[in-house]
Amino acid sequence: MSYREQIISEITNQRDLFQTISPEMKGKPISEIYGMNSFNDEAMKKHLPDKTYEALKKIIKEGGRVEPILAEEVAQGLKEWAIGRGATHFTHWFHPMTGLTAEKHDSFLSFSKDGKVIERFSGSNLIQGEPDASSFPSGGLRSTFEARGYTAWDPTSPAFLVEAINGTTLCIPCIFLSYTGEALDKKVPLLRSMDRLSEIAVKFLHLFGNKKVHRVYTTVGPEQEYFLVDKAYYNRRPDLIITGRTLFGAKPPKGQEMEDHYFGSIKERILAFMHDAELELFKLGIPVKTRHNEVAPAQFEIAPLFEDSNVATDHNQVIMETLKKVANRHNLALLLHEKPFLGINGSGKHNNWSMADSDGNNLLEPGKTPHANLQFLTFLIATIKAVYKYSDLLRATVATAGNDHRLGANEAPPAIISVFLGEQLTEILDNLEKNKKADYSDKAIINLGISKLPLISRDNSDRNRTSPFAFTGNKFEFRAVGSSHSIAMANYTLNVIVADILNELYKEIENNLKKEKDFNKAVLKAIIPLITETNSIRFEGNNYDPAWEKEAAKRGLPNKKTAPESLKDIITKKNKDVFIRLNVLSDVEIESIYTILIEQYIKVVNIEVETVLMMAKTLVVPGVVRYQNVLSQSVKNLNSVKGIDAKVLKKESEIIFLYSKLVAELYEKIGKLEVVLDKKEKIAGEDEKANFYCSEIIPLMYGLRETVDALEEYTGDEYWILPKYREMLFVY
Ligand code: ADP
Ligand code: MG
Repeated sequence: MSYREQIISEITNQRDLFQTISPEMKGKPISEIYGMNSFNDEAMKKHLPDKTYEALKKIIKEGGRVEPILAEEVAQGLKEWAIGRGATHFTHWFHPMTGLTAEKHDSFLSFSKDGKVIERFSGSNLIQGEPDASSFPSGGLRSTFEARGYTAWDPTSPAFLVEAINGTTLCIPCIFLSYTGEALDKKVPLLRSMDRLSEIAVKFLHLFGNKKVHRVYTTVGPEQEYFLVDKAYYNRRPDLIITGRTLFGAKPPKGQEMEDHYFGSIKERILAFMHDAELELFKLGIPVKTRHNEVAPAQFEIAPLFEDSNVATDHNQVIMETLKKVANRHNLALLLHEKPFLGINGSGKHNNWSMADSDGNNLLEPGKTPHANLQFLTFLIATIKAVYKYSDLLRATVATAGNDHRLGANEAPPAIISVFLGEQLTEILDNLEKNKKADYSDKAIINLGISKLPLISRDNSDRNRTSPFAFTGNKFEFRAVGSSHSIAMANYTLNVIVADILNELYKEIENNLKKEKDFNKAVLKAIIPLITETNSIRFEGNNYDPAWEKEAAKRGLPNKKTAPESLKDIITKKNKDVFIRLNVLSDVEIESIYTILIEQYIKVVNIEVETVLMMAKTLVVPGVVRYQNVLSQSVKNLNSVKGIDAKVLKKESEIIFLYSKLVAELYEKIGKLEVVLDKKEKIAGEDEKANFYCSEIIPLMYGLRETVDALEEYTGDEYWILPKYREMLFVY
């Protein structure tokens, strides 16, 4: 059997392996399994004393401190539930700045006074844990000798059970802080930002007469894209294993041009995986709703129903981890990288964002009365202004080495942030703006069309798929988030910038109200100028059109194409100030975030270039040398054939000339890359290092790749040991 046949047989002989769901779980109604592995409301009610349950619910809803006595009682209920469901261990589960999640497990093992083994889990076990923080990135926040950080229980995100093949672990969602109180994770700023937005949004709702509202939640529904590749291929691609993306690979004869994958019927094997993964997610109480094939071959999407930003962020991390774990069970590798395959669409995470009050009313849903619509327009326009003023910051929240390959690649939103509103809303805002000089009488409200504000129809507004920040009927869809990213930073930034603008606007309206008795007029006077001010951020056209780039430049919109360039916007005065003003991040915390992100960029690209060199030298070169030998041997042999046609010989030689030229080019480019890479040791600052990788190393990596990919196209299949695009993307 040839090498390639061997792989194919590994793939095709494993069909019955994929029936992984046990007969008793298969086909169970979702209502019977949903949340069984989550310490949700039902479980809390059952396992906590009534008073404890009520007290905890109050804290979950309204915030507040968990007193030690309460923690002790919750811990007992939680332990009882978890052990009853088979848990032997517990862990504080948190989101360090790596963008991944972290866990350190402890067993419930303890000894009673008389030396008997018992299971113990105390209130203090629940509230606080102390992982050694020294190996987590802190961006210089603490030096190693004061490495202590601690995790603190976040009661607003339900604890859950992770069932592994041989045992179950209780996971307690936590935040992660240094002993001096600085955030070492992505959740602390997220929770702070949700509070800030809630405080000001509640004030607004009270102003609009909704006095009963006591809390506003930001809501998020992240649509998750991913690729699936058979493990037989994945395991033979060091680049996929090490970097998550293919660093070499010639364009396959067929890519996505037939448009036959998007929403196509899902292959049996993939569907088996999806059922399995969704079952796990249902058990965890994660509301996954939608699944479909995506645009690229081997690309798929899973989307949950929206939840509050905190829970949605935790759940998105769990979704990513669960998908990977379950894929593995099906001998599939799940790729979350933003651009696993060059020339094929990459993956993102459409971050649907809105705000809802404590009664569940969506603040970005147009209302039925003029008054409700004025409120809707206020929140809408505040959001537009926030994106306008902080577009550079928002762009920076999605700036990573991986996302650089995707943003602006005519398949994903460009690096230019603009806002899409749709025809109806554009018309309404334009009308309001035209009438800005009119006196803002009650009549004006009717004339301006606010009273008639139609329910923005989804079909009308959702057409523009190219916009990075699109209004889609009752929420904004931030589409630039990368598929592998934690959604925390994008969301805490959104919350902060919208809260900031709402704060300004509130002051202005209060001021207007001193002179102006008519409430509607006072509001209109404050919001209409913002429509004019933010005009340049609004764009309804095709964001992939090269003309847009020119137009955006004319409008003065930032267009930072690479992560190192964009990340600097995190630490500009304007952008630092907004976090500081709202008490969401301190100056040192912002600096540390910036440092971590820049360091991460450098590390990622460095690992990629080391992988490129390793693969070129150890996997590509040996194959092409062998094939070159075959070709030259063939010319030699032909030469010795008496009476051979000179034309035939010439053709044969041409091929070997061409091939050996490519091989020489390969050596040359490997050498050049090695020489340039050596400079890294001499570059002092982190910024300079990031720039070096971005502007010098990445182009050379692409240059080397061109040659490797050309060689792939000329090399005999048996001599090319790396799985090819045409295999990885199409063979299941
Ligand atoms: P599509 O964008 O595919 O047409 P939908 O617009 O129905 O589908 O929803 C996409 C995602 O947006 C889902 O995850 C959904 O839960 C989420 N979503 C819907 N409403 C809101 C909201 N008010 N806040 C946040 N996310 C929302
Ligand atoms: Mg969508």
